[in-house]
Amino acid sequence: MNITDFYALYLQANKVTIDSRKVEKNDIFFAFSGDNFNAATLAETAMDNGALAVIVEDENFENTARNIFYVKSTLEFLQDLAKHHRAQLRIPIIALTGSNGKTTTKEIIHAVLSQKYNTQYTFGNLNNHIGVPLTILSIKPEHEMAVVEMGANHQKEIEFLCTIAQPNFGYITNFGKAHLEGFGGVEGVIKGKSELYDYLKSNNQFVVVNENDPIQVEKTDGYDLVIPFGRRDSEFYFEKFTENNCVGIIYNEVEALSKLTGDYNFTNLCAATSLGLYFGIDFNLIKKAIEEYTPTNMRSQIVKKGDKTLVLDTYNANPSSMKVSLENFNDFIGPKTIIIGDMLELGEESVTEHSQILELAKSLNFDEIITVGPHFKEVNTSGVAFLTTQDLISYLNENEVHSQNILLKASRGIALEKALEFIK
Ligand code: ATP
Ligand code: MG
Repeated sequence: MNITDFYALYLQANKVTIDSRKVEKNDIFFAFSGDNFNAATLAETAMDNGALAVIVEDENFENTARNIFYVKSTLEFLQDLAKHHRAQLRIPIIALTGSNGKTTTKEIIHAVLSQKYNTQYTFGNLNNHIGVPLTILSIKPEHEMAVVEMGANHQKEIEFLCTIAQPNFGYITNFGKAHLEGFGGVEGVIKGKSELYDYLKSNNQFVVVNENDPIQVEKTDGYDLVIPFGRRDSEFYFEKFTENNCVGIIYNEVEALSKLTGDYNFTNLCAATSLGLYFGIDFNLIKKAIEEYTPTNMRSQIVKKGDKTLVLDTYNANPSSMKVSLENFNDFIGPKTIIIGDMLELGEESVTEHSQILELAKSLNFDEIITVGPHFKEVNTSGVAFLTTQDLISYLNENEVHSQNILLKASRGIALEKALEFIK
């Protein structure tokens, strides 16, 4: 099967999926096989369920009469199809990468741009070598713009994802201490994430720049196609305000209060607002988007439980996001308990990073510090340290957390949100 022939079929499809359980009428199913499973065996069933076509990488299951096509690599075919589709599209694509805040920023940008344009965006966190092509393939003729999240945990990944998404605008949310293992330290993170700038610059496309971030400024020095924000003399300048522990943005004396907690979300709001203004959206509409956007995804989410205020930030954690999260929570008024879980994927920096975070926590104004996970347990020798979330739950069944404010933050693998319902 070649791309050009298949593209004609794709244009008639409802959607592209890699999940056989999600196949609906007129879908294209890409049968990705695992180590112990041959997904090509699902091809006929997918057709029975109404699929328009199935792509398999096992020749024995090809059945062209039924639109079941064999290709050498399902993954490469998916990526090439997305690349081809992107090349036909005449809409601006905005790409986001960075160590923290991609999904949040993507969602705010989508909320803002949707005030005026029919905007497609990455679903959930589908930001890798499969997610990006799927996002591109979800762009339909009616879409006027798209926002694409790009994740990476090693070099050259962003460069590759750019060849698929071919973005016209790009923003790096931050350079932080995430995936240090795969990138080879902080310098490696900067290099890896900057591949987005490199792509945009060499293709004469636009870069959104936070002028308070010296790395972003340095990386775009002398480049003309920029959308700068952050400083008084920047093209776009906003002031910050906080109300009820949520962060807001002020533009030309008009206030827009988000439902997000954390000062770090201010820059996310600034980037989205700059893009909105750049695309000619009135600030009153941007304000509406910011005020209506409700995080529901365990990222900087505030949950009220009786008279308690909980900050649920259990989607992920690394030293940078943990630090800003602790500092933000420190400003909450009233007694405070923090329940923090391990930060994973830190490689040989792990022990140092966990003990630095613990020291930082101790230096701040918290009434109670509870840690979860083996990495914290190793360094938290004199405090309350649980090995697993399950152990924490057993403790919560017997003990009440007295503070009025409670922060829950950990890497995804710790599944700390499971403890939420046990907090009395
Ligand atoms: P992933 O790598 O899992 O895709 P992400 O980059 O999409 O993560 P989000 O899911 O948006 O990031 O946010 C994860 C956490 O990062 C937030 O809950 C918050 O604690 C922190 N965070 C968000 N924005 C920033 C920022 N601009 N700078 C630093 N930390 C941030
Ligand atoms: Mg994400």
